[in-house]
Order: sequence, then C-alpha cells, then structure tokens
Amino acid sequence: MTAKRIDGKAKAEQLAEAIKAQTAVLLKDHGIRPGLAVVIIGEDPASQIYVRNKKRRAEACGFHSVQHTLDENVSQADVLGLIDELNNDDAIHGILVQLPLPDHLDEQTITQSILPSKDVDGFHFVNIGKLTAGHTQDAFVPCTPAGCILMIEDELGPDFSGKNAVIIGRSNIVGKPMASLLMQRNATITVTHSRTSDLPSVVRNADIVVAAVGRPDMVKADWIKPGAVVIDVGINRVEKTIDGETKSRLTGDVDYDDVCRVASAVTPVPGGVGPMTITMLMSNTLRSARLSAGLPG
Ligand code: NDP
Repeated sequence: MTAKRIDGKAKAEQLAEAIKAQTAVLLKDHGIRPGLAVVIIGEDPASQIYVRNKKRRAEACGFHSVQHTLDENVSQADVLGLIDELNNDDAIHGILVQLPLPDHLDEQTITQSILPSKDVDGFHFVNIGKLTAGHTQDAFVPCTPAGCILMIEDELGPDFSGKNAVIIGRSNIVGKPMASLLMQRNATITVTHSRTSDLPSVVRNADIVVAAVGRPDMVKADWIKPGAVVIDVGINRVEKTIDGETKSRLTGDVDYDDVCRVASAVTPVPGGVGPMTITMLMSNTLRSARLSAGLPG
C-alpha cells in the first residue's frame, strides 16, 4: 500500500479563502473587522518565523493585525499591563502570546490573564474546561488539535465510532485536547507518553495515530496497523548530509516514507499540520469577532 499524502497546506489555503470571504461579509453587514494581537517576547528565531507567518495569514484574511514585540528582559508586570490593554481594546478579538517565554516570566500567569473570550489559542482554563466537558459552542479549541481533527474527518467522516485512536504525547497544547476532540467523535482513546511500556505494540492497535512527541522519525512502519490514518504533529530540525553537503531540514515524529508503505493516509512535515494550525488560529479569531457581535460562532 502507498498511503495518500494528506495535503494540509492545500486544505489550509482552502479554509483561509472561506475565512476571508466570511470576514468580508462580517465587515459589510456588521462593520466588524476581526482583530488579532500577537505578543512576542525576545528574539527566538523559530518564534519570529511563526509570528511572521501568523501576521501574514491574518492580513491575507482581511483582519486587523497587530504585533507587539517586547524586549527579552521585559518585566512580568509590563507584559500583564499590555494584556490588560488588549483585553479592553474593542478592536482586538484574539490575543496570542507566542511561547516559549523567557525563563523569568511565568507562563501560566500570563496565559491565564488573557480574557477567555479572546483566548484564541484555547489555553485558558475556562476554555480547557469547556472543551473537556464537551461544551464547545462558545469555547476556543487549541489550534493544532482542531486542525488535526479536520484532516482526520476528511479521511474517516465525522463519526469515529468503533475506531481506536492512539495519541503519542500528553501535552496541554496537543495531546490532552486531541484526546477530548477524538472522544467527542466517539473514538476509543489511548494517550501514551514517555512512561508507556512497549509503545509500538500500543500504536499497532490504532486506526488513528496522532504523534506529538518532538522526536525525529520515531514512528516506523512496523508500529502501524495496515490502513491507519497517521497525523504527524512533530516539528524537528535535523542536520542531514547528502553528497558531502550538510543541510538543516524539518522532519516530523513519523518516518514518512516508511509509514506510507502501511498506512492509508499520512500528513507530511512540512506541509501537513503546521499550515492547518495557523489557519485554525484565524478561524478562532473570526469566531471570536462573530461571538462578540452576538452572532453564532
Ligand atoms: P511536549 O514536549 O510538551 O510533549 C511531548 C510529549 O511527548 C510528552 O507528553 C512526552 O511524555 C512525550 N514523549 C517524549 N518522549 C517520548 C517517547 N520516547 N515515547 C513516548 N512519548 C514520549 O511537546 P508538544 O506537545 O508541545 O509538541 C510535540 C511536537 O509537536 C514538537 O515537535 C513540537 O514542535 C510540535 N508541535 C507542532 C505544532 C504544529 O503546529 N505543527 C504545534 C505544537 C507542537 P511525558 O509527558 O511523559 O514527558
């Protein structure tokens, strides 16, 4: 079997076009332009790239997009002061603080200071609680798992009854919300992590595999049940030497070429989950703007 390549980039483009069209309607009919504020602290090169891509995508969707770049040594009080201003700014519907933060800042205090109604990353405890309770009508679901679910639905339809799903990784931003979303669609869930014994044999039971580990090419073909759908969340930078020349490239947690021999569909890295994550951020921001106007999300 040669698996289908799930084209997250193409799907993200398609969704972004729909978001752009809905944004134009919201502006025309209600005079509201979705506003996204991104706060970046320090000079981390990967974070700079992510933030640039988010800003570019927000502008392409027709959003009001602002970026606040703060010095590496900014005080926690100043960060909280900025978030307070953004919480009270009616032109801003979504606030995102790019992680990771410098060590002297407390991630939890900062993330939880964003109003739940503007928490388009879905990291506020109110949004996590609503997702866990299945009350998603007015909650924001974290962007990466939200994008993964759409790609799995494209392969399996909206209901995963009778399917076993194995998630590798139990982080708050991917593994745990992914489990809630898969369970809501009636999959039977196993969440694995670094203390799981004999991980390959657990994964071999899965019709749906979501790998969010941060270990390059860890998942191999002999871990995969024939016909499984495999979603690779991992983004790892590795050095590879070809013809004597060493180059840096991105790879996922799944050994793509190997797993494609057994699975029915696999997301590539890059071009899979990453572009969907950014588009789901735009979707959450549009939703927030609509909810702020009393319209259905
Ligand atoms: P975390 O580091 O927060 O979590 C990693 C998880 O993997 C932990 O639960 C850890 O277990 C588990 N783990 C580590 N080693 C093993 C192992 N050998 N076997 C089984 N489980 C293991 O990472 P994130 O969830 O934040 O991110 C995971 C990956 O996804 C990263 O590569 C990240 O860059 C990428 N990512 C990509 C996004 C995108 O948009 N495409 C968005 C977010 C993340 P334990 O809990 O026991 O330590």
